[in-house]
Amino acid sequence: MDFDTIAAISTPMGEGAIAIVRLSGDQAIPIAEKLFKSKSGKKLSEMATHTIHYGHLVDPNSGQVIEEVMLSLMRGPKTFTKEDVVEINCHGGIVSVNRVLQLVLNHGARLAEPGEFTKRAFLNGRIDLSQAEAVMDLIRAKTDRAMNVALGQMEGRLSKLIQRLRQEILEILAHIEVNIDYPEYDDVEEMTHTMLLPKANHVREEIKKLLQTSQQGKILREGLSTVIVGRPNVGKSSLLNSLVQENKAIVTDIPGTTRDVIEEYVNVRGVPLRLLDTAGIRETEDIVERIGVERSRQVLKEADLILLVLNYSDELTKEDENLFEAVKGMDVIVIVNKTDLPQKIDLERVMELASDYKLVTTSLKEDQGVDELEEAIASLFFEGSIEAKDVTYVSNSRHIALLNQSLKAIEEAIEGVEIGTPIDIVQIDLTRTWELLGEIIGDSVHESLIDQLFSQFCLGK
Ligand code: GDP
Ligand code: ZN
Repeated sequence: MDFDTIAAISTPMGEGAIAIVRLSGDQAIPIAEKLFKSKSGKKLSEMATHTIHYGHLVDPNSGQVIEEVMLSLMRGPKTFTKEDVVEINCHGGIVSVNRVLQLVLNHGARLAEPGEFTKRAFLNGRIDLSQAEAVMDLIRAKTDRAMNVALGQMEGRLSKLIQRLRQEILEILAHIEVNIDYPEYDDVEEMTHTMLLPKANHVREEIKKLLQTSQQGKILREGLSTVIVGRPNVGKSSLLNSLVQENKAIVTDIPGTTRDVIEEYVNVRGVPLRLLDTAGIRETEDIVERIGVERSRQVLKEADLILLVLNYSDELTKEDENLFEAVKGMDVIVIVNKTDLPQKIDLERVMELASDYKLVTTSLKEDQGVDELEEAIASLFFEGSIEAKDVTYVSNSRHIALLNQSLKAIEEAIEGVEIGTPIDIVQIDLTRTWELLGEIIGDSVHESLIDQLFSQFCLGK
């Protein structure tokens, strides 16, 4: 395909000091040629592909040296976009990288839209749709762990599982098809309801498994929504501040990705927490008083994690007890704050109330106990069923929606089998399952069925 040449700033994850301007397209090398003076004096067009060169960017209009850079030259199709790609590494930080971007834009490149490099990789057939979406998630990924999820998916794990599942369905479909279309092939056993049921059940179980991992994937990508509750003045704001200060959010400089970050986002020992920046949720003072135990339970139930703060130097009140009532059964960490002040709280009663939860004491004023709190958050999370490796996390809402639809379709097929609906009617639901799964990886071509017919039964020989 023919596209114009695009450029954008892309900063690699975890290497904040270096910024890169990336160009992709037919004109990537000619544009860079106009601007780059290599130390060796050689021209880019004479240099081998996948090589890195040291030199200077010079504004051809003024002759002025703009930047000292390292330039990577990669000729298509062995690149991410399959096009010619030039990456200009600037070590001068964000100001100089913007200057470099301006320079390439003034000399023939167009500013890429967010995700446009990935879109090209998809359109040029380099990656499939689920991989493209994983890259988009990667761009938005705000913590290392979320990034690993995105990476795993990018490697095509999800695609492989979906492909395997579709293959199973395809074999059933081909079998039914051959029964219907080629009744004279009597050496092909007829697909019966009894034969079909275990196969369809298996497909359903596999789809369910994928959906189960989606909950976790979602948490990792978006962060555990975390609510800090407690009576007024116990130290909720102080807690929020100390969590935000100690765990700076990871933000990328890729254009178009930072502007939709609206929540407070912190990374506590690899656990992403999303402290919702919405009045009344991030800091819920008096919530039980205001809206009652039942209602507050509903509000709090939306949260993945509750941080319940008590005041060490104050008596336990009815309001505190109400809070425990409201958070019953949820993931809770109880924080007894202000231990630098004289004790007034009944600790025995607190331990009773908090017997199902982790309990941490802090003095936020003196910066005590925050480490223990972070440890508690991390262990609460990792004690769970989290398996960082070898698990496909379905973390994309479009995938989740399609998986849910395909689950429904296969369940309808199974229901049909169970009540003895004719096989060629059941076939319709099976086909729909297969197509819906195909949409996840951007492939729903009927030709595969034809190919399958030929390879599975050697028809038309
Ligand atoms: P919130 O109303 O629950 O959000 O409580 P704040 O975080 O606003 O804190 C209320 C007051 O308690 C502020 O003056 C804080 O400085 C103070 N405070 C917070 N944590 C501690 C602590 O550990 N020890 C002491 N002595 N004061 C604290
Ligand atoms: Zn406050």
